[in-house]
Order: sequence, then structure tokens, then C-alpha cells
Amino acid sequence: MAYCPKCNKHTGHMVRMPSKGAARSMSKMTRRHNRATAGFVGSVEPRIHPKKLSKRQVILLECKVCKYKVERQIGGRSKKKVEIKV
Ligand SMILES: [Zn+2]
Repeated sequence: MAYCPKCNKHTGHMVRMPSKGAARSMSKMTRRHNRATAGFVGSVEPRIHPKKLSKRQVILLECKVCKYKVERQIGGRSKKKVEIKV
């Protein structure tokens, strides 16, 4: 049971792992990369970002009544991974 914003009440939900979407071809960083590599052969030196030690655990909830899908984050950053039991 979880809250569905479309039904505006608590309904039964299916739990799934969200699939990673394709990279956007017109995003800011893709355009910057294309600009930097235009006219050159090879790759651009990447900027060094501080590394996070853990990932946010996200699940996909699908309402059984109206099939509305919501991505939800479980807690904050944690080293434990979400497991879905069938
Ligand atoms: Zn719903």
C-alpha cells in the first residue's frame, strides 16, 4: 500500500526496479562535450568530481488501479542495496 497522487488515496502498488533512461542528446553536458571535441580526435580530459561513497536507492511504484508510475527514494544515501522479493 502506498499513496497514489492520481487516485489521491492509498492503493496497492507493484514494486519494480526503475530502468535507466537513455542519455539526452541535447543536455547541457552533452552539448559542452560536443563543442569541446569538435575538430579534434580523441577525448576531453574529464573534470574531477568528489566521489560519493554510496548511492541513493530508488524503486518504481506502479499503482494497481490506474497504472500511474512514481519513482521513490528509500531513505538517503546508503551502502545497502534494495532487493525485491518475488
Ligand atoms: Zn492510482
